[in-house]
Amino acid sequence: MKNNILFFISIGFLLACGNDKQDAQKPKQQLQTSPTKTAFIAIEKPEFDEDSAYLYVKQQVDFGPRFPNNEAHTKCAIFLKKKLSSLGLETQIQEGKATTFNNKNIIIKNIIGSYKPELQKRILLFAHWDSRPFADHDEKDKTKPILGANDGASGVGILLEVARQLELKQPKIGIDIIFFDAEDYGQPSSLMVQSNSDSWCLGSRYWAKNPHKTNYSADFGILLDMVGNSNPQFTKEGISMKYAPQIVNKVWGVAARLGYQHIFVNKETFFVGIDDHQPINEIMGIPSIDIIHYEESTGNFHHSWHTHDDNMDVIDKSTLKIVGETILAVIYQEK
Ligand SMILES: [Zn+2]
Repeated sequence: MKNNILFFISIGFLLACGNDKQDAQKPKQQLQTSPTKTAFIAIEKPEFDEDSAYLYVKQQVDFGPRFPNNEAHTKCAIFLKKKLSSLGLETQIQEGKATTFNNKNIIIKNIIGSYKPELQKRILLFAHWDSRPFADHDEKDKTKPILGANDGASGVGILLEVARQLELKQPKIGIDIIFFDAEDYGQPSSLMVQSNSDSWCLGSRYWAKNPHKTNYSADFGILLDMVGNSNPQFTKEGISMKYAPQIVNKVWGVAARLGYQHIFVNKETFFVGIDDHQPINEIMGIPSIDIIHYEESTGNFHHSWHTHDDNMDVIDKSTLKIVGETILAVIYQEK
């Protein structure tokens, strides 16, 4: 991810969020208190292993920065494909050509794993696996690439652990897991040129126009982006609420049943920027949501966002657990 509110204002993208007043009237403790365990209602599902997810995040980061056309990117793509395959999913790498905002020709690698590909009823889980090729929000070394432990690897790590659990307790539905490439190759906002929103999410745009299966469809999609920092707050993000409010409410409802309503807060927020769920909604027509950590108190993402601080030091296993448990609960309550 991508850009921030200022970016949208700069391109005249008028934000329709009429909930600020309403939310301001809500008592603060409703948004930030500790979990209410009385809300817990058991959902039959496997246990999410946060140690395993953490290892999957680390294994990606250990390759170094991973962006199209670099060596770590090539190696990590092979690692992710092999891992999904070893977990029993039908796996492929979809390759495609794209051009970046600075006119570089790149080869995109979308990594796709399908659980029970023969089933018609399916859901789509996705994250981006590339890391940003520059640290444009850092104070120093702005042109050097970042490790992207949170912005990239965290969502993929959680989904790999979800994939591992599918074999252990087989759900009744089909699931496609896609790791999109070149999400984070977008034009830096500091460039004194016209904003180029199309420079983001190159992998998901490519897939949305060229799905890996003819007439592909899924009931709904869930994107995980920046889901590994401590003390996260997941608000109901604007593009998700525009296209798939029923899915947002479904997922937030499941999180509340697990006792995580202090993390998945019942509050709508502004569009936080372009992300991979946008082309999936707009081109593929699959109602899709974004679980993304956005800090309303600062009006921005985590302080490590698009900086060299986005390394394993900012990954919190308990956050991986909360998000992973929620995704598993959503999967296993589907009939
Ligand atoms: Zn990013």
